[in-house]
Amino acid sequence: MNPDLARLIELEKAEREIARLSEEVAALPKRVAAIEAKLADHKAAVEKAKADIKSNEATRRKLEAEIQSFQQKIIKYREQSSSVKTNDEYRALMHEIEFTEKQVSAAEDKILELMIALEAQEKALKAAEADLKVEAAEVEREKSEAHTRTAEDEKLLTQLGTKRNELRAQVSDSPLAHYDRVMRQRKSAIAEARIQKCLACFVMIRPQTWEDIKTNEQIVSCSSCGRIFYYDPANEPNAPLPEQPRKKSKAPAAKTETESETPEPTPAQ
Ligand SMILES: [Zn+2]
Repeated sequence: MNPDLARLIELEKAEREIARLSEEVAALPKRVAAIEAKLADHKAAVEKAKADIKSNEATRRKLEAEIQSFQQKIIKYREQSSSVKTNDEYRALMHEIEFTEKQVSAAEDKILELMIALEAQEKALKAAEADLKVEAAEVEREKSEAHTRTAEDEKLLTQLGTKRNELRAQVSDSPLAHYDRVMRQRKSAIAEARIQKCLACFVMIRPQTWEDIKTNEQIVSCSSCGRIFYYDPANEPNAPLPEQPRKKSKAPAAKTETESETPEPTPAQ
């Protein structure tokens, strides 16, 4: 094989790998952010469970203070009852006491309900905290994996950069300039030629050019896409039957300018 062609094939592989790895490295912060975002829901669930418990406790404290104030009222009413002058006044006080005792009892019922709710809320908090712990461990694992991968990528990038520079230094100027131009425009600069076609843009190759390409001894580029050709006989279908007459002239648009006028095929001898 032409040494420049061999190096350009290697160079293209290295440069495409460099591009892929660079993209992967550049995407890391976004990837880590996406991994961490998975924790947000679990953190929110823990915060909500804590807030529920806080609100429960605040409501209970408020009710307990109310009960205290009701009980003080009741004590005051009882004190007054010993010094009232009339039965009506006495009945009115008894009525007040009864009413306030009902308020105490209602507040006590509410406190009991809150205590029962608190049990469920504490369970929910424990469950949310356990979920968060599991998810946080998973996130740490994924993040550490992403960082390891990036470190490996960066190591590979350094190696590939060295290889690229070495290859570029060895390729002749003119094929290298052509390669660079096509690479810039098309993101790939090498194409396999197979069945007399460019496998990148599928244009047919002229018979004489095709013969040149098959030697792999010249730098030949596609007349349509500009990519530099290489030929691998192992990939050519029916490779062991080179002398076979064409059987399917109707087949694909696989006609070259010289073959297009061929009449109906004759059966193989
Ligand atoms: Zn092409």
